[in-house]
Amino acid sequence: MIEDPKSFAKALCDWYRDHKRDLPFRKTKDPYKIFLSELMLQQTRMETAVPYYERFLRRYPDVKTLAESSEAEVLKHWEGLGYYRRAKHILQAAKTVCETHNGVFPEDARELETLKGVGRYTARAIASIAFNHPAAAVDGNVMRVMSRYLPFEKDARKTKHMKEIERILAPAIEKETPSDFTQAMMELGALVCKKNPLCGECPLQGECFAHKHNAYDRLPVLPAKKPKLEESYYTFLVLKDGRYLLRAQSANDLLSGMHLFPQYRTDTFEEAFSRLCKEYDLNIDSVETLGRHKHIFSHKIWRMQAYLVKTREGDGDYYSLENAPALPTAHKKIVSSVKK
Ligand code: SF4
Repeated sequence: MIEDPKSFAKALCDWYRDHKRDLPFRKTKDPYKIFLSELMLQQTRMETAVPYYERFLRRYPDVKTLAESSEAEVLKHWEGLGYYRRAKHILQAAKTVCETHNGVFPEDARELETLKGVGRYTARAIASIAFNHPAAAVDGNVMRVMSRYLPFEKDARKTKHMKEIERILAPAIEKETPSDFTQAMMELGALVCKKNPLCGECPLQGECFAHKHNAYDRLPVLPAKKPKLEESYYTFLVLKDGRYLLRAQSANDLLSGMHLFPQYRTDTFEEAFSRLCKEYDLNIDSVETLGRHKHIFSHKIWRMQAYLVKTREGDGDYYSLENAPALPTAHKKIVSSVKK
């Protein structure tokens, strides 16, 4: 429990008002823009997300414009940001807001949570930031701060423990402007109470357990992460008349809805190449290696041995890269190894 919720909230929010970063979504209370920023920031660094956020808003300035778009177009605007499921969720949520809520975002966190892609944390973040509802939003950053401050010595990734922290924060959020409180907690976790904390700059250091006991190395309590699954592919950039062969990922696959270069998980190059030629009935001019490439997803690693295959004839759909459907970063970076 926080001994003096009022002082805690005041110290935190005073610090925030003096130190907050100048970010575009901090200048608005529009729930659509807050929703967009929260989804874009999931698993993505701020420096990466901000230009996407600004570009996305220029194309989709409001929820109605977004709801009327196609999935292919939204994915194209998301291209390079990764975790593409978020783009589909954003579109589905926008459709729900327009079809079920007359284009107006619900204010209540529980109703927000019914939107696709909006989990408990995101719903509470939107409710507090856009509507000033006193709903504490607890994510990994907030768990790190609070585990160290209290101390809280339970698994910081478990939902039931996050809810415990929400309850502990409730009296403090009620003593302040919820919008500032939520953003202050996020900002403190991002800028000060990092893995290696900058306690000298922290407004909470006077009462912080980890600071007093030099215990920030063992807090928060986090279970060991499972090793990522590794998959190896032979990946082919098949070029015909200046256009590349792309195929759509099927619905249940990783990166569904995106387009990829054909790739195969086989033991040998010969096997993969023969499957490629057969599948697309290619009439090959030349094959050259594009080297090894690696892409790390949240739970998987792709190792790709890539080849540029020039062909005169072939089945399948060929695109110039300027007009291609959304291509994931995992494959986009192989393109840069093609000599001009
Ligand atoms: S004093 Fe240090 S460990 Fe404690 S909350 Fe602040 S930054 Fe984190």
